[in-house]
Amino acid sequence: MKLLSVIFISFIFPFLAFAQEPKDTEDWSRKPEIVNIGKNNEPPSDAIVLFDKEDMSKWEGVKGVTGWKANGDFFTVEPKTGDIKTIQKFGDIQLHIEWRTPKKVKGKGQGRGNSGIFLQERYEVQVLDSYDNETYYNGQAGSIYKQSIPLVNVCKPNGEWQSYDIIFIAPRFNENGELKSPGYLTVFQNGILIQYHVELKGSTEYIGTPSYKVHDLKESIRLQDHGNPVSYRNIWVRELNL
Ligand code: MG
Repeated sequence: MKLLSVIFISFIFPFLAFAQEPKDTEDWSRKPEIVNIGKNNEPPSDAIVLFDKEDMSKWEGVKGVTGWKANGDFFTVEPKTGDIKTIQKFGDIQLHIEWRTPKKVKGKGQGRGNSGIFLQERYEVQVLDSYDNETYYNGQAGSIYKQSIPLVNVCKPNGEWQSYDIIFIAPRFNENGELKSPGYLTVFQNGILIQYHVELKGSTEYIGTPSYKVHDLKESIRLQDHGNPVSYRNIWVRELNL
């Protein structure tokens, strides 16, 4: 009998006491919000729509008034009138944006269908006609300009609509202005992964190496006027609460 007690206390009791049940690892702490995905390429139900059709009220010219004009369900860069930016400012986001370079091929390299999406007005995901148009690889469509070459080139021919789905994690700064954590970008082009969790080196620079300059946690999205009539449509963001 004593032996049985020893066996029970030593081997069986610990097993019974610490045996796990399936429900022990169930997490009921946060119910995911229900989001309805849009039909026919429409924005999901929790998105902030930045451009649907005709209405450009969510945008303003960086130089003040803008010459960019909506034409039905898209708008087009009006060359030499300057960049435009969102009135609303954003931190961490998922951004969907569709773009189209001019059907008529004009120019080459960086001069063909150049525009760009500047997250927080500083970090550029390049827009360019990179279909059969060679330029430095960290400057082609889908590059994080002069910082990261896209994994692959999935560009459609000029004149066709293409999409970017961008996950942007904003950089954080300490109160003294020092960088606390860098920004990150993940980009899908036409549904294909082209940039994965790339750590940003700082603001996009045309000349010289990038570095961070302190800014707010939320900033505008800016679209570039590079002198080419690139068009945009179906622009929406989801603010991420990670
Ligand atoms: Mg550009």
